[in-house]
Amino acid sequence: MDFVKKHRNLLGAGVIAAAIIAIGIGAYFTNREAPVFVEYAAFLEAMGEGRIASVQLNDGATLRFTFAESEATYTTNNPRRADFKEALLLAGINVTETTTAGVDFIALGVTVVLIGIVIFMVQRRSGAAMAKNGLNPVAVGIGEEAEAFPCNFESVAGNAEAKESVSDIVDYLRTPERFAKYGARMPRGILLHGKPGTGKTLMARAMAGEAGVPFYAVSGSDFVQMYVGVGAARVRELFAKAREHGKGVIFIDEIDALGKKRSDGANGNDEREQTLNALLTEMQGFSDTSGIVVVAATNRPDTLDEALLRPGRFDRRVEVGLPDINARKQILNLHAVNKPLAKDIDIEKLARDTVFFSGAMLEGLLNDAAINASRRNGESISNGDISAAYYTALAGAEKKDRTHRHQREREVTAYHESGHALAATLVNPENRVTKVTIIPSTGGAGGFCVTIPPERMYHTRRELEQQIIVNFAGRAAEELHFGTENITTGASNDIEKATDTILQYVTRYGFGSGLLDRSKLEEKTAIAEECNALAEKLYAQTRELLQKNYPALENLAGQLLAKETLDSEEIAEVIAQSPPCPYR
Ligand code: ADP
Ligand code: ZN
Repeated sequence: MDFVKKHRNLLGAGVIAAAIIAIGIGAYFTNREAPVFVEYAAFLEAMGEGRIASVQLNDGATLRFTFAESEATYTTNNPRRADFKEALLLAGINVTETTTAGVDFIALGVTVVLIGIVIFMVQRRSGAAMAKNGLNPVAVGIGEEAEAFPCNFESVAGNAEAKESVSDIVDYLRTPERFAKYGARMPRGILLHGKPGTGKTLMARAMAGEAGVPFYAVSGSDFVQMYVGVGAARVRELFAKAREHGKGVIFIDEIDALGKKRSDGANGNDEREQTLNALLTEMQGFSDTSGIVVVAATNRPDTLDEALLRPGRFDRRVEVGLPDINARKQILNLHAVNKPLAKDIDIEKLARDTVFFSGAMLEGLLNDAAINASRRNGESISNGDISAAYYTALAGAEKKDRTHRHQREREVTAYHESGHALAATLVNPENRVTKVTIIPSTGGAGGFCVTIPPERMYHTRRELEQQIIVNFAGRAAEELHFGTENITTGASNDIEKATDTILQYVTRYGFGSGLLDRSKLEEKTAIAEECNALAEKLYAQTRELLQKNYPALENLAGQLLAKETLDSEEIAEVIAQSPPCPYR
């Protein structure tokens, strides 16, 4: 290709001259008007939109096709892929086949020259140029723009923390100049992560709506089924379009389809890598006053390539969580606005019964109920309509015994997390337990407990022990309430953390026996024995602590089951109002 690059102009001129001659000869012999050539990318775009009526397949370099909206015949580059015909048929396109066997040399000459032209065009084209160079009768529409309906933070129920963490970006979108004046660098990319249907798209849309800037949406998976080079060109096009309008939010759903970790061994997917690189390059190219922000969404943040998360890329991560009971109530109320609900419908109860429903599921539930009501021509949406929709939704979920299983799981999670929260509060009053919840996050945990330890340069030996006790308290609470036989796998992450701390305690900090960096010594068994003894001692302390405060554990778990999420004040209040255990 080097030769081609260096002598591009010369080659180009030669190719064009040859093309003109060849097309002349071709036209002379075929005695037909030469059909207009359409870029292959544009052909695919039109195919995706169902606008191709028929295709004449052959094994030549180009193929002929017609659009649904006109009689004229066009040509495009022939991909000559084995599965191309099937793709066409599946898209409902009328396919005829002609063989080129026995074509004369002139036809062959024309073909060769056409390939030359295509190569030349491919060399020349850049994404933006492609849309504008007039060669392309089909406008390549990409990215939907802001819809008619207004969407702002009020359209997103719950998720107060997520809203809070993107609010400065909204300010930036409104007045990028103000931030630039102070030399502030705003994040160019924000990664929203959370389970499907939790409202990531909605949140991105709301950011654009709040700031009053256009919204462009694409999905990572749109890019990967394409042919090499097309995805990258589309990315450039998308950004060019956004830049034309000045400010905007570019939303990329399912970013993991593009930015998956490169698994070692397997050689990378060229198309994906090219597209990803194009994306990163475009993001790097923003000036600080551009007012364009890229928001990406994924439900698998752990699978993303590190390259995506580096500073200046998607360096702000915001979790969009499943709704807790209050948020579920809000979502239901939000989507009930235009629906005539019967008076006896209890949204509060429905919110309570829809644990682990995502926002999308709640919306679907009300919609199904509305469909049920309209089917039977009812006056309004009745409790019966809702409960039918509710059971359909449950059946649609993976397991039919979902609610049942979930009830038990919720209890286990409530005790487990209460154990962490209680131990953290009791072992050290300086620990701040800011939140405890039994609503799962993308991390996959059943629930979680956020503890902020006091910030210090050095930690005392007792502080490390306290940390381990807090880690162990989830398991200990399960054991105390449900019995040794019924402890669960839910503590694996805690055990991993405790193991790390214990190992450091013994080997690195010299808190165990001996003042040596024992990680450098060959005494694995001795270290393991010491770690084990320490773990056992601390686990016993954990159990004792929780036993002494068993009423507080019960109350916390009970409150968690009722409210699903407790903040620091609520936690402190429950603990303060619980008596110490009278029996132990
Ligand atoms: P995701 O992008 O996380 O998969 P979406 O944003 O596509 O989820 O959510 C689908 C629909 O579910 C939304 O259009 C909205 O109607 C509803 N929904 C989800 N979460 C919420 C929420 N927090 N508040 C209001 N509606 C929500
Ligand atoms: Zn835990």
